Amino acid sequence: MLELLFPNLCASCGSKPVAGKEICNKCEEEIDFLEEFSVCAQCGVPFGYFDSRASQSMDIPQEAENPHLCAKCLKGRYSFNRARSVAVYRGPIREMLHAFKYEGKLKLARSLSDTMIEHMPFNMENVDVLVPVPLYIGKLRQREYNQSSVLAADIARHTGVCVNLMGLVKVRDTLPQIEIRDEAARRKNVRGAFQVRDKNTFQGCSVLLIDDVFTTGSTSNECAKTLLKSGALSAEVLTLARARGI
Ligand SMILES: [Zn+2]
Ligand SMILES: [Zn+2]
Repeated sequence: MLELLFPNLCASCGSKPVAGKEICNKCEEEIDFLEEFSVCAQCGVPFGYFDSRASQSMDIPQEAENPHLCAKCLKGRYSFNRARSVAVYRGPIREMLHAFKYEGKLKLARSLSDTMIEHMPFNMENVDVLVPVPLYIGKLRQREYNQSSVLAADIARHTGVCVNLMGLVKVRDTLPQIEIRDEAARRKNVRGAFQVRDKNTFQGCSVLLIDDVFTTGSTSNECAKTLLKSGALSAEVLTLARARGI
């Protein structure tokens, strides 16, 4: 009955969505899934995509045979072993994520985590524990939920992999990374901002960090560094979306 009174509409364009989804067919087709692109073997940046949308490469990635790295990864800028995103941060993905994060549309979480599972770039058999990128407690009170925790908990529930929502904490507030236009300043902004609560928690674990958007990777890199310092065997990063780095 509620469905008749308040029909579900596509979260992006407002038309009729595909049954069981929050989004319509047309909008789903507009999503640029990164599995279709050639990406850096370490940080996952899609080669050519952000430089020129017109000349974007549609090569099937052949990472195993051809482990190619972007300029940043060749310089060894990241501590995580591998970062992957499911889709480019634009169009319907950007709109849905924005509504989920800032407009309290928690019901979109299911659709977004389903998309992450459907296009999962990692083999879950090799992952010991999922860890969301934490929010500072003050931010959490303001926003009421951590979007990364909601996604991580959903993925854990549907894949059977463990999730640790409290093990990694953010110990001080930082400026929103989006307000900082320089990568060195972004790194400085988050330096030392994360801690593991108990130094034994992640000993010997293969951790998969979960976040919503990867831009320069400074935040996930700082989390990975913290986890590796506390004895994690490896730290990888999965984000829903990939934004243009600065
Ligand atoms: Zn739509
Ligand atoms: Zn790279």
